[in-house]
Amino acid sequence: MSTRPTTLAEWQALAASLSFETRAFVDDQFVDALSGETFASVNPATGETLAEVASCDAADAERAVEHARAAFERGEWSRLAPGKRKAVLLRLADLMAAHKHELALLDTLDMGKPVSSALGDMAGAIGCLRHQAESIDKLYGEVAPTGEESLGLVLREPLGVVASIVPWNFPLMMTAWKIAPALAAGNSVILKPSEKSPLSALRLAQLAREAGLPRGVFQVLPGFGHTVGRALALSMGVDCLAFTGSTQVGKQLMQYAGESNLKRVYLECGGKSPNLVFADCKHLEAVAEHAAAAIFHNQGEVCIAGSRLLVENSIREAFVDKVLAAAERMQPGDPLDPDSFMGAIVDETQHRRILDYIRQGVAEGAQLRGGGAALERPGYFIAPTVFDGVTPEMAIGREEIFGPVLAVFGFDSEEEAVAMANDSDYGLAAGLWSQDIDRVMRVTRRLQSGQVFVNNWAGGDQSMPFGGVKQSGNGRDKSHHSLAEYSSLKSVWISLDS
Ligand code: NAD
Repeated sequence: MSTRPTTLAEWQALAASLSFETRAFVDDQFVDALSGETFASVNPATGETLAEVASCDAADAERAVEHARAAFERGEWSRLAPGKRKAVLLRLADLMAAHKHELALLDTLDMGKPVSSALGDMAGAIGCLRHQAESIDKLYGEVAPTGEESLGLVLREPLGVVASIVPWNFPLMMTAWKIAPALAAGNSVILKPSEKSPLSALRLAQLAREAGLPRGVFQVLPGFGHTVGRALALSMGVDCLAFTGSTQVGKQLMQYAGESNLKRVYLECGGKSPNLVFADCKHLEAVAEHAAAAIFHNQGEVCIAGSRLLVENSIREAFVDKVLAAAERMQPGDPLDPDSFMGAIVDETQHRRILDYIRQGVAEGAQLRGGGAALERPGYFIAPTVFDGVTPEMAIGREEIFGPVLAVFGFDSEEEAVAMANDSDYGLAAGLWSQDIDRVMRVTRRLQSGQVFVNNWAGGDQSMPFGGVKQSGNGRDKSHHSLAEYSSLKSVWISLDS
């Protein structure tokens, strides 16, 4: 059978041939949870159970932390020359590339995203690993500008044990964004994937072993947030918590750090990102296509989804018509069909939540212009939904829905657009479309956002940091900025006889 599927039938055949690793990965061994408990991993496109996966809890967390610490102390990884760590991580990246179809498929089956989109995620994951690996042996310490009677060195050291807790919307890509810089910097890493998408992380563990990561340096604990996630966050043996997920859980993690050992907590949380379209932007048709993709890509289950579309009133009616036409071309389909733009919503709970928001939008008086309902088919599918005439007081205009629901607002002036964009607890991403460079720079500087996309949505590469301000979090994934987060500075003052 082809391992490079390109058609629906080939993806289905590859899916039918897969076997899943379902056990935790602890100290280089695949093991059941100590309790013997499991949880079901369900394919949201069909509602069928794919596998029963080890459900780790506090005891498993404690055991993994001990192994992680022991590995760190042994120094086979933490004290290895950066160039040698680089070689191992590049080997892992090569293995991921060799197995990218299988890895993409695991994410698709687990959480419903279309395979073509999952393949794009693999490129992002592999690219991140390569970038961080390539960076680590080019990162210098500092010599401080002291007088001749002393030498001041600023050394970078790994932190120790890093726990990475990740969500389900980009399972392997979010994992790579966390573990690549943490491992490159020399830490021991314990990964807790989301209970909704554990399978690719466990396959990654197999590849990490094959790549030659020493025992205990990378471990994977599948399980629930309130059990194993909480235990890692409260552990006295974890030095850093790197989290991507909801703002609500992010706040809890900061409390856990305060209740335990003041571990570093890096948060990449939710968003309600504004996308500002000014009447002077070029190619309205293309901008409308981008605006639709900004919310409907990955079923709207994207932290930086452009979920608030702010359109200058003079073009609003015509523009919304174009967005609706684009949405029509983005209807959900079988996630295994490479031509599907949207797939299934991750699970029944999220499906229900999104439909509740849609009902609330109608009840609050927003104008439902397109979509608004579940698809009549097995699994959890929702049509791309567009509300016009949304106001900032409405729940659909303020809260992160994490689904394919676009809220359109109108504005009459730049001032009003900026005020509306910033009227949010979140500050993850913002977009603006305009040909006026003065306006672009004025507005960019005033937007309260970790990233601003000008005449594009979601642009960026591995060289650009990714993260938010306000309640979207405090961490930065990707780029050398993320590498810096996983190390601490040691100042060494050496007295010299002169
Ligand atoms: P979530 O917060 O429910 O869960 C995220 C992870 O935290 C999961 O692994 C979960 O098991 C774990 N968790 C839950 N409760 C916990 C607890 N008490 N202690 C420790 N761990 C706990 O989020 P989700 O539903 O998986 O993902 C969606 C959210 O993630 C959205 O808000 C989205 O915006 C956000 N997100 C942010 C980014 C970013 O880069 N800023 C990227 C992707 C997703």
